[in-house]
Amino acid sequence: ELLLEVRGLSAVIAESKKEVLRSVDLTVHQGEIHAIMGRNGSGKSTFSKVLAGHPQYEVTGGVVTFKGQNLLDMDPEERSHAGLFTSFQDPVEIPDPKLAMLNMEKGFLDGHVNGASGGQKKRSEILQLAVLGADLCILDEIDSGLDVDALQDVAKAINGLLTPDNSILMITHYRRLLDYIKPAYVHIMEDGRIIKTGDASLAKQLEEGGFKAVSAT
Ligand code: ADP
Ligand code: MG
Ligand code: MG
Repeated sequence: ELLLEVRGLSAVIAESKKEVLRSVDLTVHQGEIHAIMGRNGSGKSTFSKVLAGHPQYEVTGGVVTFKGQNLLDMDPEERSHAGLFTSFQDPVEIPDPKLAMLNMEKGFLDGHVNGASGGQKKRSEILQLAVLGADLCILDEIDSGLDVDALQDVAKAINGLLTPDNSILMITHYRRLLDYIKPAYVHIMEDGRIIKTGDASLAKQLEEGGFKAVSAT
């Protein structure tokens, strides 16, 4: 069943009005793992923050339906209560009240920020707790800075999260995570757009040719 439908989502940075998302389309059904890949600065984290309702951004166009509801009408807390979980790539930049609002687990953040082996080990455990009961988990570069053991741990946790009723959207810069998690769909983001959608073989193409091989330009 349809879980998330994003149609023509465009957004600007609230302060500068700089355009950061340009008509993004994405459809996620229950029971699916999706991966968003793309160069640094292509808009991946921005996309997840806009879905979470981060006040840094202003939506300028498009429609987002989550479990049949208009997501863009909800404040961040309502989105989280509705079953949308978002982990942030740079949580340390976000002030504490906002974290509470976005339903982040402090322990998860510690694990995420530390990068130390203790933190690494904990990341997979806390991940499981943090996303318990969420229908859509957006995980932004949760694999960054992990050694192979911790990466396998996190991959195992992510694979274990998937049920027939929920979905996982992984944002990753690193192809190696896809050695352990097989997404049904891989989306390539470039310049604030999803320029290509394919199956796991798209990640393979990336591995062989780099982002140039799948680029629109
Ligand atoms: P990615 O996660 O793919 O590396 P980001 O979403 O972090 O990319 O950033 C996309 C682009 O938008 C970058 O050029 C980044 O500098 C810019 N950007 C996003 N959010 C902000 C912000 N709050 N202030 C200034 N620039 C921003
Ligand atoms: Mg980045
Ligand atoms: Mg990012």
